Amino acid sequence: MNFEITHRDGAARRGRLHLAHGVVDTPAFMPVGTRAAVKGITVDRLHALDAQIILANTYHLLLRPGDDLIARLGGLNAFMGWDRPVLTDSGGYQVFSLAARRKLDEEGATFQSHLDGSRHTLTPESAVDVQARLGPDVAMMFDECPSWPATHDAAEAAMTRTLRWARRGRDRFLALSTGRAADVTRSNPAQVQFGIIQGGIYKDLRDRSVGGTVEVGFDAYAIGGLSVGEPVDVMYDLVAHTAPQLPDGQPRYLMGTGMPDDLVESVGRGIDLFDCVLPTRNARNGQLFTREGPLNIKHARYADDPQPLDPACGCETCRCHSRAYLRHLFLSGEMAAGILNTLHNLHFYLDTMRQIGKAIEFGTFETFKREFLHTFSRRLPA
Ligand SMILES: [Zn+2]
Repeated sequence: MNFEITHRDGAARRGRLHLAHGVVDTPAFMPVGTRAAVKGITVDRLHALDAQIILANTYHLLLRPGDDLIARLGGLNAFMGWDRPVLTDSGGYQVFSLAARRKLDEEGATFQSHLDGSRHTLTPESAVDVQARLGPDVAMMFDECPSWPATHDAAEAAMTRTLRWARRGRDRFLALSTGRAADVTRSNPAQVQFGIIQGGIYKDLRDRSVGGTVEVGFDAYAIGGLSVGEPVDVMYDLVAHTAPQLPDGQPRYLMGTGMPDDLVESVGRGIDLFDCVLPTRNARNGQLFTREGPLNIKHARYADDPQPLDPACGCETCRCHSRAYLRHLFLSGEMAAGILNTLHNLHFYLDTMRQIGKAIEFGTFETFKREFLHTFSRRLPA
C-alpha cells in the first residue's frame, strides 16, 4: 500500500491511495455492499458511477455464503466480478448490535446467526483469518464499539479491550502475511490492515486510544464509534480532536458517516475515507439527496412534476426521468424505483467527493464548503 498526499488546503487533504486492485483518489466515499452487492446496483453501474472502492461486511459473508466458499472461488473480487478495491469491516459492529444473541468476553464474541440460529465465534484472530479468506484489499481490525450513550467507565473498558485486541489482531495479521501461520488461505496476499480508534465521546480516551493503536502499528487508522447517535457538533469536535493526532502520511477513515454535509465537514477536519448506508438505504425509502437537501419522492407535490429529480445532476436517473415518473415507480413498488433512486443517490455522494477533491486541488475548499453548507439543508421540505 502506498498513500501520497498530492494537495493540502487547511486540514483537508487530496491524495492517492494505491491498493492491490487499483488506485483510490481521496477523499473518497465507499458505497456499502453488505452482502457482496451494493443493493440495487450492478458492478457495471458501479463502474459507470466511477466508484473506486466499495465496502462489504464480514459478519454477513461469514454466515452466508461463508468465507471458505468465497476463498475457494478466488476471493471477493472474483466472486463478485468486481475488479476494483474492496474494504471489509471486521464483523464486530454487527455482532455487538445483536445484543440479546451474543456473549462478549476478553477472548471475543460468541453469537447466534440471525439466519439459522447456528453458533459462531469471532475473535481478534479469527476476524483476521476470515478476512484473509475473503481477500479484500483492506481488512479492519476487530474492535469493541460500545453502544451510545456510554459512561466514561464503559467507554474506557471498551477502548482498553480494543487496544488489547488491536495487538492480538495485528500479531495474527503479521503471522499470516509473513507465512508464519500458513494454515489459512489468503485470497489477496497484498491485503493491508487498518486499526480502529475507540473511546466514545471522551477526548482523554480517544487520546489514549490513538497512542496505543499507533504504537501497535497498522497500515492506516480509522475513527470508530462515532455517528452512533451523538449530536453532530459532538462528532465534529471529536473528529477535529482525533484526526490530527493520527500519522499524517497515512489515510484516515471515519467509519459509518454520514450525511452529505458530514462528509464536507469531516474532510475539512482531515478525513480521507468514508462509508455509509445512507445513500443506498434512503434511496430505497424514497429519500433522494440534492444540492438543496433531501427530497421525499413520495410527496404528492411531485405527482405531476415534469422536472428532473435534480436539474443540476448528470446521472442516468436525472437525465432520463421526471419526478412524476420516479414517484409513480416508487408508489407502484417497481424494482426500477430502487435502482434509479440508488443510482442517483450514489452519484450525488460520489460526485460531491469529486467536487471536494477538485476544490482541495484548486485551494478553494473553504469556499466550496461555505457554499455547500449554505445551500444544503437537512430538513425535508414540508
Ligand atoms: Zn441524479
